[in-house]
Amino acid sequence: MTDVLTPVLTNNWGDERSWTLEAYEAQGGYGALTKALAMAPGDVITAVKDSGLRGRGGAGFPTGMKWSFIPQDNPKPKYLVVNADESEPGTCKDMPLMMATPHTLVEGVIISSYAIRAHTAFIYIRGEVLHVIRRVQAAVTEAYAAGHLGKDIHGTGYDLDVVVHAGAGAYICGEETALLEGLEGRRGQPRLRPPFPAVAGLYASPTVINNVESIASVPSIIEHGAEWFASMGTEKSKGYGIFSLSGHVKTPGQYEAPLGITLRELIDLAGGMRDGHELKFWTPGGSSTPLLTKEHLDVPLDFEGVGAAGSMLGTRALQLFDETTCVLRAVLRWTEFYKHESCGKCTPCREGTWWLVQTLAALEKGQGSESDLELLLDQCDNILGRSFCALADGATSPISSSIQYFRDEYLAHLTHGGCPFDPAASTLFA
Ligand code: NAD
Repeated sequence: MTDVLTPVLTNNWGDERSWTLEAYEAQGGYGALTKALAMAPGDVITAVKDSGLRGRGGAGFPTGMKWSFIPQDNPKPKYLVVNADESEPGTCKDMPLMMATPHTLVEGVIISSYAIRAHTAFIYIRGEVLHVIRRVQAAVTEAYAAGHLGKDIHGTGYDLDVVVHAGAGAYICGEETALLEGLEGRRGQPRLRPPFPAVAGLYASPTVINNVESIASVPSIIEHGAEWFASMGTEKSKGYGIFSLSGHVKTPGQYEAPLGITLRELIDLAGGMRDGHELKFWTPGGSSTPLLTKEHLDVPLDFEGVGAAGSMLGTRALQLFDETTCVLRAVLRWTEFYKHESCGKCTPCREGTWWLVQTLAALEKGQGSESDLELLLDQCDNILGRSFCALADGATSPISSSIQYFRDEYLAHLTHGGCPFDPAASTLFA
């Protein structure tokens, strides 16, 4: 089994009042900030680049490279925006992180803002999670009182203000440009890219947008060094990450491990599948990533390994389903979610997700014919790569992959005249 290293981000989650400044500083918190402020901003960017940290929001874009795109000769203000709108089905890592150790995020925000020479940063938190918003706001308030934020931080002459912003509960606002629209006070709908936010982001100014876990990883990189981080993980997917396990596993929860760990190892850590049942299918990174099956238990969970298996690492939201689950029902449930959350801006997504639900719902009831499977795949083909942002692409992933692996189960609905599974046996859809 891959060595499961001492957790870093999750290390103090169980400590008493771990969310307070006192507890964080007792563990050496804000030491990395002191170190970073003694470095030139460009050297902080180099350290993050050298660490190999890749975006933990799902896409895996190199974080240090993104920071280096911020044009320093542009006289406009620069902004850091933390994407804390975690909404991908199954994804549950940023919220517990912000609840348990919000100061890791706040310290990461200050170091990252200093690196890109921003004097205002925003933490955009999903609106439904009021408890998280309150917790992060309390940490920001504590950081101001302690002189970690505000004017002349640690006497270095560096100023930074942090604004905690509550979203209004739309999945699309996790898409970075829709998030910016929301921050600017408009309806959350994606913008055309390019220009990427690094060139023209918030208020048309150069903006870095990073996920919570990416930013929270920065203090330990500064503290222990780029080499330390790069020594973990795999060749092209460095470091560690939080894997959220949910579904039919004995101990669901967050497991922090080096990238490249396998699902088989993670299931072992989680105490196994529930008694008497075996894995049927799973999502590597939330429902927007193509499904995998028990054939893929030993796929290295890094960007390359999961990609080679035909899926994507995404948010490392591992949703596990055993043989009692009807794959069609699970896929229908996800597709309804995408239809509901489509912002309506582009036709392939607005109309396409509606049609996907119609076709899937009929099949789930055992109505239609085998040709409807080709119709579904055709609908997916007409959406993939033709929509404004990744939402609709993601909606097609569970559909096309489930037909690839479980075509017989789709057909069984037709021959059975409805779902052949006993719904009572499924704990997920009860
Ligand atoms: P993307 O690959 O288009 O972009 C990733 C990041 O890199 C963005 O910040 C983008 O601005 C930057 N980037 C890419 N190319 C660039 C360039 N040439 N110049 C400058 N910057 C560049 O991915 P995306 O559409 O932003 O996000 C899709 C991902 O979001 C999926 O992989 C999915 O896993 C993830 N996702 C996460 C959640 C969640 O809750 N965390 C929800 C839905 C989707």
